[in-house]
Amino acid sequence: MPREHLRIVVPAGGIGAARFLRGLLIAAPQAEVTVIGNTGDDITLFGLRVCPDLDTVMYTLGGGIHEEQGWGRRDETFVLRDELAAYGAGPAWFGLGDRDLATHVVRTQLLGAGYPLSAVTAALCRRWEPGVTLLPMSDERVETHVVIEDPSAAAGSGRRRAVHFQEYWVRLHAEPVAHSIVSVGAEDARPGPGVLEAIAAADLVVLPPSNPVVSIGTILSVPGIRAALESTPAPVVGVSPIVAGSPVRGMADKVLAAVGVETSAAAVALHYGPALLDGWLVDESDAAAVPVVEQAGIACRAVPLLMRDTAATATMARAALELAGRTGATA
Ligand code: GDP
Ligand code: CA
Repeated sequence: MPREHLRIVVPAGGIGAARFLRGLLIAAPQAEVTVIGNTGDDITLFGLRVCPDLDTVMYTLGGGIHEEQGWGRRDETFVLRDELAAYGAGPAWFGLGDRDLATHVVRTQLLGAGYPLSAVTAALCRRWEPGVTLLPMSDERVETHVVIEDPSAAAGSGRRRAVHFQEYWVRLHAEPVAHSIVSVGAEDARPGPGVLEAIAAADLVVLPPSNPVVSIGTILSVPGIRAALESTPAPVVGVSPIVAGSPVRGMADKVLAAVGVETSAAAVALHYGPALLDGWLVDESDAAAVPVVEQAGIACRAVPLLMRDTAATATMARAALELAGRTGATA
């Protein structure tokens, strides 16, 4: 029997996850949603700790997001950035707005006072009231690095260099070929407080349309999280971030290639695998993937998967809830 207050756990990256969560909260208004946020993209800039994925979820669900951009604050100004640039103080490639900076100042202050990231995130969420419990995947530092062809090396030298994920994405626009992805610190990290408990208590786990490598993959790289998701009796259903052979936005194709996975809705499902996934939604345009995914033992349906507006996104979330009910796993 479904519980009155369904407990849903959502491992989440940034923009794709945040938008999907908005639809999920409309589709399941009574649900208690716990988000396990990716912190592999976190970076220290100008002495300030920045957590892009946690903030995108918090701002999107709290009504402070820059809607068109998908990250950062609406009605933003850049006085501090311009003043720093006037001093020649770098890096200039990461644009932090004034409103956004207040979040990073408060976070850095609290971390400096000794609070763990989980407690700091909870404190920031008291202002934004995102309507979900937002848990960092870990309180320990895990940093996604991308091994690329060194752009400063002589052409054809083949020299490789590891760069922080933000440098690869924001400064280098994901242009250099990515050879591999490293989750630095992951093997020694522990899941954040409440993460394993939330998975154990979940009635349902939904993988939103997030980057399968540098968002969901990073969360799964924290020891214990994948095992907990694989062993939960609750159904685990995912929404493909790949539509018609391309990421809807972002660089998922580049990082999928780096881990040897084809950019297709079916290949991403098989990459997660049947031990993790009970169900998988693909876009209508990928209907041919349905038998391939089902052949692997994962229930699959083709439905419209473009988050054009909140109504379309809520319909997608409803399809995920329905699919979970059909998987045969116990909800
Ligand atoms: P990031 O950390 O900001 O890159 O955000 P995520 O990891 O949560 O999400 C990025 C993924 O969301 C990308 O791989 C996109 O392909 C996917 N995505 C974005 N918009 C949509 C959409 O409307 N539909 C689907 N199916 N996927 C989307
Ligand atoms: Ca991210």
